[in-house]
Amino acid sequence: MANDPDSSNLHLMENIWMSFHADHEITQEEIAYERRQVCSNILSNFVATPDGQMVSCCGLTMEHIPEMKLGNGDTSDFSELHYSQLNDFVKVWLAVEGPKKIYEFAATYDAGIRPPRQSAHICETCVQMYKDERLKQVLADHYHECVGDVLTRFHINRAVARARPNKPNSQSALTGYGA
Ligand code: SF4
Repeated sequence: MANDPDSSNLHLMENIWMSFHADHEITQEEIAYERRQVCSNILSNFVATPDGQMVSCCGLTMEHIPEMKLGNGDTSDFSELHYSQLNDFVKVWLAVEGPKKIYEFAATYDAGIRPPRQSAHICETCVQMYKDERLKQVLADHYHECVGDVLTRFHINRAVARARPNKPNSQSALTGYGA
């Protein structure tokens, strides 16, 4: 990079490593999780994997969350797969509040449910949320209590994003969700 005249076009970024194995801990120098609470990826990106799967996000942990996989893009109606995401309230909730807030909602009904303390990334919290059967049962029993609030904020966010299409993270407005 020091000698290449085009080096200004290349940016090196240090990302976060996370472990998926209980016997392998990774120590983070800096906990980045607190900086990002709301998922700006879900319902904005529509991802095709090399094996033809259409996926709701390109998060670091999405391969470990079966709910993110919508179906095969080669054999299914692309548009139906795309819009089927809106029938999954948890995905809308992730876009509006993120996994930590969903954990906090569940904890108000079950004090034994806690967000992972050592999570270094929003996607790490997300995958643990999707693997927590106790949390999922609370959501199944109580999600309807916040549907109105979450959907209202979701549609307001989309309307604002559509009105400001050149702002960062406003690409989601172009997909037409909530139209
Ligand atoms: S937080 Fe969850 S939904 Fe969002 S990108 Fe990460 S894994 Fe995907």
